[in-house]
Amino acid sequence: MSSPVSPLVISERLAALRAIIPEGIELVAVSKFQPVESLKAAYEAGQRVFGESRVQELIVKIPQLPSDVKWHFIGHLQTNKVKQIVGKVEMIESVDSERLLELIDQESRKKDCISKVLLQVHVAAEETKFGFSADEVLDYFRSRKIETLTNTHISGLMAMATNTSDEAVIRKDFASVASLMREIREKINPGLRNFNVLSMGMSHDWPIAVEEGATSIRVGSAIFGPR
Ligand SMILES: *Cc1c(COP(=O)(O)O)cnc(C)c1O
Repeated sequence: MSSPVSPLVISERLAALRAIIPEGIELVAVSKFQPVESLKAAYEAGQRVFGESRVQELIVKIPQLPSDVKWHFIGHLQTNKVKQIVGKVEMIESVDSERLLELIDQESRKKDCISKVLLQVHVAAEETKFGFSADEVLDYFRSRKIETLTNTHISGLMAMATNTSDEAVIRKDFASVASLMREIREKINPGLRNFNVLSMGMSHDWPIAVEEGATSIRVGSAIFGPR
């Protein structure tokens, strides 16, 4: 691991980011692989929403930060680890299968809590990324299976763009997710309440994501330095 960025630099980077992120856009500080000291520095600088991608790491970090931190889980969630995070996180952004969705709902019922989730949509060119295809998402909403969820609220969609420096490709990926979101809201399920979170954009491509309609961005290395 590279040595952590100093608390001062973290607070300066956060301030600089906040100055250019348009109002109303949520900033999720992606703190995976970063030491707790770095998260504390961000917290001191006013940051409250943090993104983690590994269950074990998240579980270790939660008790070390103040209880008003809102944790977003953003990595691939194995079905056997659902129990460990339901009730502890503000949002699971990376729901990538119906099976996972059902298990989250089951566990939330058991714990008598409501879980907020995003469906992760796969639009990038890379083969290995997890997620629903756009068609699978459409099928899911058309099927009305959402009505069988009792303790899970689908708040929107999450996506990553193709890992490329070609802005046109990145923009096309983000635009396709935004259009998927619109289609669900306007045509397939217009009655859907609070389906309004579009989480897309990371350190290198968040300005494009915002231009294409992101409401939430997930920024890691631009705040905390390399992992
Ligand atoms: C790591 C990660 C990020 C942040 O990436 P940076 O390039 O460090 O900003 C955002 N989203 C997801 C899903 C990630 O895994």
